[in-house]
Amino acid sequence: MKSESKQERISVGEHIAVRCEACGYRQNLKASDIEDPSKIICTGKDCDVSFSAKEGIKRAIASDNDYMAWCFISDTMIYGKEELSIGTAKSVTLEAPVSAVKKVFLYQDEGKPHDDSIYLVHKFSLPDKLVIISSSSEEMLGQKVEINWTVYANIAEESTQPWRDYLRKAKESLINEDYPDAIIEAEIAVEVTLEAIVWELLIKRKKLEEDVTDWILNHMKGVSDRSKHVMELAIGKKISEINPTVYKAWVNSVAKKRNLIVHQGYAASKEEALEAIGAAFEIIWLMLELVNRKPIRI
Ligand SMILES: [Zn+2]
Repeated sequence: MKSESKQERISVGEHIAVRCEACGYRQNLKASDIEDPSKIICTGKDCDVSFSAKEGIKRAIASDNDYMAWCFISDTMIYGKEELSIGTAKSVTLEAPVSAVKKVFLYQDEGKPHDDSIYLVHKFSLPDKLVIISSSSEEMLGQKVEINWTVYANIAEESTQPWRDYLRKAKESLINEDYPDAIIEAEIAVEVTLEAIVWELLIKRKKLEEDVTDWILNHMKGVSDRSKHVMELAIGKKISEINPTVYKAWVNSVAKKRNLIVHQGYAASKEEALEAIGAAFEIIWLMLELVNRKPIRI
């Protein structure tokens, strides 16, 4: 049965979560509503600090707040509100079919006291069926409650940006307190981006043939060679010359730590994992800008 309730769907490229460093307040913004991406003003209580969209997103992703990870990793967010009676299962049909679901959130209205006695789980069946199952104590059964739901999903068949998947995995590992894995995955996110970027630069900007480009990349497989020599070949500059700070942060907080973990079983801390994800995000952003691609559409 089709749900009558209202749903909203937005492309996640239009939607960003940012976090204020001063007060920690998180905002969800629609990219098209942002007048100046270099100056987002915090709407937290008694706070008027401003920061850039990029800084805000970096802080959102390099945080251990679960919610903030997700707007970054799927192409679409669909959300709505359902009234259900406690103890039943309610089926919601999404207004658009999706090809993959990345995350589902169920929550009661923010601002109202959260009722811990209501237990919610969900089941998702592709392409469009969300079932919300609720339960509570005997005396609560049958009572009406309003539940907000948010589904982060992909509608497009294929993700063309594998770095998003790895950064999401890094964030998942972080939340699961597996800090070494978070760092390893952050490094993979950087490496897959680097591979895609040098490929694109050599083919499009340098106008090399595909087989020549293949040959170069096969002979310079190492990420260090690629960030130095292949970049020089492609644009006449090493990544370290474009932005030494971002480059050093990646080398020290991500690449070197990854090697320590893989080769010596180094037990990285949560702080190190947070730092690695932030540093990986910065260098990925820098590389995407080199090919005029923004991680988000601002
Ligand atoms: Zn603030």
